[in-house]
Amino acid sequence: MKPIDDEEAARHKAKMAKRKAVQDAEVAGKTIEKGLLIVNTGPGKGKTTAAFGLALRMLGYGRRVGVVQFVKGAWHTGERAAFAVFGDKVVWHSMGEGFTWETQDLKRDVAAAQAAWAKALELMADPSISLLVLDELNIALRYDYLDLEAVVAALKGRREDLHVVVTGRNAKPALVEAADLVTEMGATKHHFAAGVKAQQGIEF
Ligand code: ATP
Ligand code: MG
Repeated sequence: MKPIDDEEAARHKAKMAKRKAVQDAEVAGKTIEKGLLIVNTGPGKGKTTAAFGLALRMLGYGRRVGVVQFVKGAWHTGERAAFAVFGDKVVWHSMGEGFTWETQDLKRDVAAAQAAWAKALELMADPSISLLVLDELNIALRYDYLDLEAVVAALKGRREDLHVVVTGRNAKPALVEAADLVTEMGATKHHFAAGVKAQQGIEF
C-alpha cells in the first residue's frame, strides 16, 4: 500500500463524517423493538449453525435459550455437548427420530413431529426463554406432519419479546410471509459433491 498523505487523510475524514451522519440518521429512524420470527432456509449449508450462532449471542447476555430439534434424535452433536456447558440457561429437546429415509415409519415420524411441536408450544409459553430455535421445523411442515395454519398462527401469536428461529429447507410460503427476517442459504459449492463425507465439528 502506498503512503497516505495529509490531503488524502483529510479527504477520508470528511467522507467518513458524511457517511456517519447518514448512518446515524438511518439508525435513529429505526425505533421498533420486538421479538423476531426468523427463518433460515435454502439449499446451502449454514441454516442450523446460524441459528446456534444466535443462541450463543443471546447466552452472552445471560439470557435463556430453548432448542427443539424436529429431525435430529438421540445422536451426539458437537453443538448439543457445547450448549450443555451453559446448564439450565439452555433447554434442549431433540425430539426427532432421524431422517425419514432412515426411520421409514410414517406414523412414528408424525408422532415425533407432533411431540416436538408440543414441546415448542410449551417453551413459547415460558417467559424465561428469550430465544427459541425450532431446528428443521420446515421439514416437518413440508411433509405435512403438522398443521401449517396452526403452526403459523401460534408463531404469529408468540409473546411480543420472544425471538424464534425456524430452520430447514423449503420453508412454506405462509411461514415466509409471517416472518420478520428470512435468509436463503445458497449452495454455491458443497464439499459433499466432491465426495467428502460429513466431518466432525463441521457437520455434526
Ligand atoms: P448446518 O447444520 O451445517 O448448518 P444446514 O442446517 O444448513 O447445515 P441441513 O439442510 O439441515 O443443513 O442439512 C444437514 C446436513 O446436510 C449438514 O450436515 C450439511 O453440511 C449438509 N448439507 C447442507 N447443504 C448441503 C448441500 N448443498 N449439499 C450437500 N449437503 C449439504
Ligand atoms: Mg439443519
